[in-house]
Amino acid sequence: MSLRKKIKEILASDQKDYEVVINGWVRTFRNNQFIAVNDGSTIHTLQVVIDKDSLTEDEIKKINTGAAIKAQGTVVESQGSGQKVEIKASQVTILGEADPSKYPLQPKRHSLEFLREIAHLRFRTNTFGAVFRVRHSIAFAIHKFFNDKGFYYLHTPIITGSDAEGAGEMFQVTTLDLKNIPLTNDNEINFKEDFFNKATNLTVSGQLEAELGALALTDVYTFGPTFRAENSNTSRHLAEFWMIEPEMAFADLNDDMDLAEELLKYVIQYCIDQNPDDLDFLEERLTQEESQKPQIERSEMKLIEKLKFCVENDFERLTYTEAIRILMNSKPNKKKKFQYVIEEWGTDLQSEHERYLVEKHFKKPVILTDYPKEIKAFYMRLNEDDTTVRAMDILFPGIGEIVGGSQREERLDVLLERMKAFDIPAEEMDWFLDTRRYGTCEHAGFGLGLERLVQFITGMSNIRDVIPFPRFPGNAEF
Ligand code: ATP
Ligand code: MN
Repeated sequence: MSLRKKIKEILASDQKDYEVVINGWVRTFRNNQFIAVNDGSTIHTLQVVIDKDSLTEDEIKKINTGAAIKAQGTVVESQGSGQKVEIKASQVTILGEADPSKYPLQPKRHSLEFLREIAHLRFRTNTFGAVFRVRHSIAFAIHKFFNDKGFYYLHTPIITGSDAEGAGEMFQVTTLDLKNIPLTNDNEINFKEDFFNKATNLTVSGQLEAELGALALTDVYTFGPTFRAENSNTSRHLAEFWMIEPEMAFADLNDDMDLAEELLKYVIQYCIDQNPDDLDFLEERLTQEESQKPQIERSEMKLIEKLKFCVENDFERLTYTEAIRILMNSKPNKKKKFQYVIEEWGTDLQSEHERYLVEKHFKKPVILTDYPKEIKAFYMRLNEDDTTVRAMDILFPGIGEIVGGSQREERLDVLLERMKAFDIPAEEMDWFLDTRRYGTCEHAGFGLGLERLVQFITGMSNIRDVIPFPRFPGNAEF
């Protein structure tokens, strides 16, 4: 039987005086005797006490920060303070050295900007270990939530031939020779000669395909990468991000909001339960980061308190029209403190407006509904008033929009009208329209950006620090 155990398991158990083998990376080495080892299973390190006589001088020199080691020994009560147990090692093997004159991650504080440049090594820091363990918990909880509710996980295509949504922000996929592009008689690019015999792109959303699934399986969800070539260098946008898109048949906008609110609360609670040590660490990190900022920019609640608040309170639900009234009457709007002052009903909300509503006015998550039809997508269900659509956005403190969703237009004639208004050629969308021709029904869904949720739960302020290898304008490193 293998004696090998993960560090998390050893630290979680009260058992003592048994033989184990551990593997991990050296964090620090003190007094030529105490090695703090981390294997990524937990934020904590395990102290390995070596028997100096069992190692040569040469071997001891190789025990440096970053080196991979294997240790065998007995788990004993710790003599020092700070940990319950430690390993009294009978044997230590250096598996992979890390030259201290070159290894960039020496045990000191590194800036997040610096760590982004060495993203291939940043997993080994406490901060990024914690972030990616939490990210895993979030992803797992999402699948569990939907599975337990009877939703089916649907894999929608990553390469898409439909460019109905935001054609301008798509990444084109082609195998055409860019140095010798085939042209048609009209001097247009001849995509008939391309790999798929047509122009294709990376998907910006799996929604349209998810709708097709929902209109047969009733409840489905997608969970996959999406791509947007938008040139927005913000702390909330990536060019490649992961999106969760549930779609429910026989459901309206209220069902949609209920589902989104329940999902968010479930996932946050799951992390509170499963990642207490990681969240404690991230809270401490955030508190330190915020102490550098002026008082008014600091959040009123600490990280975990904020998460619990979110789970325990109902999200505030109001219409776009009500929100506009609040914003137009707000101090920053009257005093022209907003970068974009709101002059009239109908304007799209900027993130400064969203954050005002969430952070200053309601001080809790907010769901805005019934937006003007002009600023939302063609597939959203038109209201009786003929001017607003059954859309909903969920706004979170510190993040802004975290979810965007809607009840879908299920009436063929209205949908065709809307497509015409948006200049979307119906011929190319025939497959989508078939669901409205045959067995159409009320249905609704939303898109949740995984990274924005990871940002909220971990308190990381930049979205580039919650995905292992971020893609943004000018960067596709690693
Ligand atoms: P925003 O106004 O913030 O750009 P959006 O209106 O373009 O968002 P949707 O098209 O509704 O967003 O996408 C659904 C969700 O996907 C958003 O609520 C957000 O959580 C996430 N999302 C959208 N764009 C990005 C991006 N570039 N990077 C990361 N997440 C994103
Ligand atoms: Mn966007």
